Amino acid sequence: MIQFSPLRTYVSAGHNNADPGAVANGHKEADITKIIRDSIVDYSEDKNIVVDKDWETNKQYQTRIKPASGSVVFDIHLNAAVSNTTRGVECYVNKKDFESKNSNSYKMANEVNEFLSQTLGIKNRGVKPENNSQHSRIGILNLGSGISVLVEVDFITGIGAVESIVSFKDVIGKGLANILKKYDDLV
Ligand SMILES: [Zn+2]
Repeated sequence: MIQFSPLRTYVSAGHNNADPGAVANGHKEADITKIIRDSIVDYSEDKNIVVDKDWETNKQYQTRIKPASGSVVFDIHLNAAVSNTTRGVECYVNKKDFESKNSNSYKMANEVNEFLSQTLGIKNRGVKPENNSQHSRIGILNLGSGISVLVEVDFITGIGAVESIVSFKDVIGKGLANILKKYDDLV
């Protein structure tokens, strides 16, 4: 059977069972990113949507998936800061996509930021290039997908951030599923 993998949408919850990511206020980043990912899947009409498995490492997931120019890759994270009042959403795209504000990755990142900042009532911290993160290059943004965006939904260290994500999870899942569909339908 031919798998039309190149045209698919790939949604991953950053981190996994063995790597919880940031831990704060009694919450693990990996648990919250899974809630968001699962809500996107619940509201997605795309029956072929590809998601990471909770036991998979990022590397295993990245090796398994085969995105191409018609694909959308979306990786979900939460930020961490020293101050518990730091809040806000930001998205990362790869260096090449960042150079053009007309790239679909840049445009989708902008929409994700606007949607989440409005939904959660938090600051829109903007679209950033991958080398602005703690890494010089982010693997999942460089798998050959036509559109690749990594979102830091809010700061797990921020007071009320996780509670807000959990209570708005349906709105978040539905809104993000719509944005992913719009960009997946471009090619
Ligand atoms: Zn993370």
